Amino acid sequence: MSGTQCAECAWLEREKEEARRNHNMSRVTDCNVLLKPHPNHATAKGRAA
Ligand SMILES: [Zn+2]
Repeated sequence: MSGTQCAECAWLEREKEEARRNHNMSRVTDCNVLLKPHPNHATAKGRAA
């Protein structure tokens, strides 16, 4: 995982980890879909909250 994410990304990443641990693949897919509109924040300076 690389540095600068917005709070939502950080939360979604955690959710995804948790879901994967629980073998909840539909939840993992869910998180991936939700993460999609969040491109790599490391390159998008200053926009993220
Ligand atoms: Zn984000």
